[in-house]
Amino acid sequence: MFSSTYDTIIIGSGAGGLTAAVALAQAGQNVLVCEQHEVPGGWTHSFTLEGYRFNTGVHYIGELGEGERLRKIYEGLGVSNDLTFLELNPDAYDHILIGDYQFDIPKGKEAFIHRLKERFPDEAKGIDLLFEQLANIYSQLLNVIDEKWFSLLRCPTALPWFTKSGGDLIKHYVKNPLLRAILLGQCGAHGLPPSQVSAAIHAAIIQHYIEGAYHPLGGGMTIARAMLRALKKANGTIRLNTSVNEIILDKQRAIGVRLSNGEIVRSKHVISNADPYFTFNKLIGKTNLSRKLKSKLKKVRWSTSCFSLYLVIDCDLRKMGLDSGNYWIYSNENIEQLYQLGLTDYNVHNLPAVMFVTATSLKDPSKSKSNHHQLEVFSFVSYDFFKRWENQVSGQRDAEYIQLKEKISNNMISSLDHRFPGISKSIILKELGTPLTNYHYIKAHRGNIYGIDKSIWQAGPLGFRNRTEFKDLYMCGSSTLAHGIAYASYSGLIAASKLLRCRPMDLLKQNGPELEILQCER
Ligand SMILES: Cc1cc2nc3c(=O)[nH]c(=O)nc-3n(C[C@H](O)[C@H](O)[C@H](O)COP(=O)(O)OP(=O)(O)OC[C@H]3O[C@@H](n4cnc5c(N)ncnc54)[C@H](O)[C@@H]3O)c2cc1C
Repeated sequence: MFSSTYDTIIIGSGAGGLTAAVALAQAGQNVLVCEQHEVPGGWTHSFTLEGYRFNTGVHYIGELGEGERLRKIYEGLGVSNDLTFLELNPDAYDHILIGDYQFDIPKGKEAFIHRLKERFPDEAKGIDLLFEQLANIYSQLLNVIDEKWFSLLRCPTALPWFTKSGGDLIKHYVKNPLLRAILLGQCGAHGLPPSQVSAAIHAAIIQHYIEGAYHPLGGGMTIARAMLRALKKANGTIRLNTSVNEIILDKQRAIGVRLSNGEIVRSKHVISNADPYFTFNKLIGKTNLSRKLKSKLKKVRWSTSCFSLYLVIDCDLRKMGLDSGNYWIYSNENIEQLYQLGLTDYNVHNLPAVMFVTATSLKDPSKSKSNHHQLEVFSFVSYDFFKRWENQVSGQRDAEYIQLKEKISNNMISSLDHRFPGISKSIILKELGTPLTNYHYIKAHRGNIYGIDKSIWQAGPLGFRNRTEFKDLYMCGSSTLAHGIAYASYSGLIAASKLLRCRPMDLLKQNGPELEILQCER
């Protein structure tokens, strides 16, 4: 018994799901988005603690400059009307701190190269060649994502890097261990040790931010809010607190979904923005999967998980030397080893091997109160250690879990204090999210933060495809093309274009106003 019918049902309202929903609704489809959480947006959602706003998975976004890819999506879907971005410190959107050494990454390829050469004059030639290759590899990755395979095959300089690691790439061009560590300093944006990450993905991360980094004014949730306005305007619908329990198949063709309350909603197409693990194993069911897909799901590796520490600070962060750039903090230059530790439970028991720190209120003061500041601090950890608590209800876990959270928070705060002496004395509020929190809010398998990991044989089209083996079932999100707001959004556009049998750019016809960009540093 079907209660209603749509052209397309989208499972999940992450960046990918909402982009697909808006594109399809603007193309005239009758669209329903089902979101299990009480707020929309997936990792773009923000939340408040005692009135202080924090972000979950949006700290800095690239490719929002004129003519760049994500900006084209926002302007082309008309959502630029409801979005403003703040540009992070153009002289240092990322501060790479390695032991006592600091390297600030400036906006602009030439400025970045110039600063590297100033510090490492003996490596000037390798630096030039590396940046040439990074751009080359990235443009070929984009061609591959757009299914222009021949372009890659015709590019003998980039092709070999598609079977090599990010670590291989950096090592090939530069020798100095500290310089190598700097060039691997953004590894946290994929979460893998250099020896494991695909060279193409590491190149993509550097290139993604190279022309500047931005934060949405009002927090990550404004992205979902802008998308939802556009969806509503195009007569699309979202249902929150609406978990999909099953994708209904008729002879291997998706024909609708069953919700957790038993309601059946029928559609001509389904797009899943949920994790592929749940989409295939749970929503479709193992018995319906081909042997090939079952084997892929068995072998696939998920990105690591994280601790997310949210702090309110009662002191002037600028006086402490912080600015709107992010801080990647490493105890030493052995980046390989530090990220290997992030795949284990090391950071449960020790001071974090790697930390990412971002001063939310210095990027966007719009939700600060009483001159207090918000800091978001992250470190990496495997899910395994937390399995023992996965069957306890969120918010009611036992004393051991609560004590452990306290210990982990204190370790992270000690490391923070080491970098910014005295900061711990000014903390007036703290809250820690664990891998179980990630599962609870996003239903991310093993609390993963970036979908499947982007190791050499899982990156880009080697991950999950937007088209699935089931007719009328498509996928989008961070386990398809790549992760990050830009690529999850693009994956939604591609899923919509495949469903409509058109080109992605055909769906970007709304002529939204030029995206407004303000500066964090005034
Ligand atoms: C800690 C952290 C920091 C990050 N920082 C950045 C950053 O600074 N910049 C950047 O570009 N990227 C960042 N990312 C990555 C980026 O946030 C993600 O790659 C991207 O948002 C993922 O989008 P998605 O389309 O895959 O959907 P997701 O955000 O994964 O959302 C999936 C949605 O599906 C819903 N869902 C799942 N199952 C069901 C079901 N059965 N029924 C209904 N709904 C369901 C979930 O509730 C969720 O809302 C970060 C990620 C994390 C975790």
